[in-house]
Amino acid sequence: MKRRVLIIYTGGTIGMVNDPETNSLVPFDFELIEEKVPELKRFDFVVDSTTFNPIIDSSDMNPEVWGKIGVLLEENYDLYDGFVVLHGTDTMAYTASALSFMAYNLRKPIVFTGSQLPMGTLRTDGKENLITALDIASTYQDGLPMVPEVCIFFQDKLFRANRTTKYNAEHFRAFRSDNYPPLAEVGIHIKYNHPYILNTEEKGEFFVAKKMNTNVGLLKVFPGMDRSFLEAVLNAPGLEAVVLETFGSGNAPTKKWFLEAIEKAVQNGLIVLNVTQCLAGHVEMSRYETGVHLLEAGVFSGYDITTESAITKLMYLLGNCESKEEIKVKLNKSLKGEIYI
Ligand code: ASP
Repeated sequence: MKRRVLIIYTGGTIGMVNDPETNSLVPFDFELIEEKVPELKRFDFVVDSTTFNPIIDSSDMNPEVWGKIGVLLEENYDLYDGFVVLHGTDTMAYTASALSFMAYNLRKPIVFTGSQLPMGTLRTDGKENLITALDIASTYQDGLPMVPEVCIFFQDKLFRANRTTKYNAEHFRAFRSDNYPPLAEVGIHIKYNHPYILNTEEKGEFFVAKKMNTNVGLLKVFPGMDRSFLEAVLNAPGLEAVVLETFGSGNAPTKKWFLEAIEKAVQNGLIVLNVTQCLAGHVEMSRYETGVHLLEAGVFSGYDITTESAITKLMYLLGNCESKEEIKVKLNKSLKGEIYI
């Protein structure tokens, strides 16, 4: 029996060509993907594809669309051995992180990829990204998938989705995962980094939890932040959790009004999750006095989580936990390998 991989095309540069009339990028009919990438016929596994209608620039992604990807994965889970999700690069790390939390009992690869240059251009990176992503999604050893988790493949590395950030708007190497090693490195060979790949013990039926609560905010601390701005954000109507992007190892201003505003918000039930603005390293609030105050105010440590993962983990926890207590326990736990603790 040949293995089968399903491509889910959601939108983004990878599925675009240049319209000579307007000289702007327009989507091509993805049903004709084999014309653009004839190499697809050479695989020794079956490749099918399905396209979002309408396709979505990833700037317009949101939890409702994540749910739609989830439905497609559920409907096709038993029919395919692996999945490649083609997605705009801009918010790919958010969607892929979200799906890593939303997916239950996942025992097959879900590989996200996209491209910096459209498939229709000569120097496109889309072809290679797609071909390698398909290869990875179809690779099994002794009947077991090589990478049974949600991941992002880009240029020459496969990363755990919820460890990944888009950091370059131009380079072909657009993503990085500074706090977790690549799951595979791609050159002449695809070298899998076995000890770092999740080995799920989940046994039940695959499903995707689609309830996400968007009463979440992101607040990046900066020198000179105004009191009224901070208070306006923390008192935003309906806000239930905020990712506080702090300096270095989790440090923030020690001004009285700053700490009091945070403390008051926490006392009023707001969940505040401390995530570092740095690309690498982790939050350690007890290290400097400027962090200790946050700890004392009841702020949670995000450890070494990415902002993308922090936002989507909070949406997932707020949408799916029975109580604040459960959320608190799960914030201090690695659910899908998103933090090292
Ligand atoms: N604007 C596009 C998107 O994120 C860019 C890309 O695909 O790289 O949908």
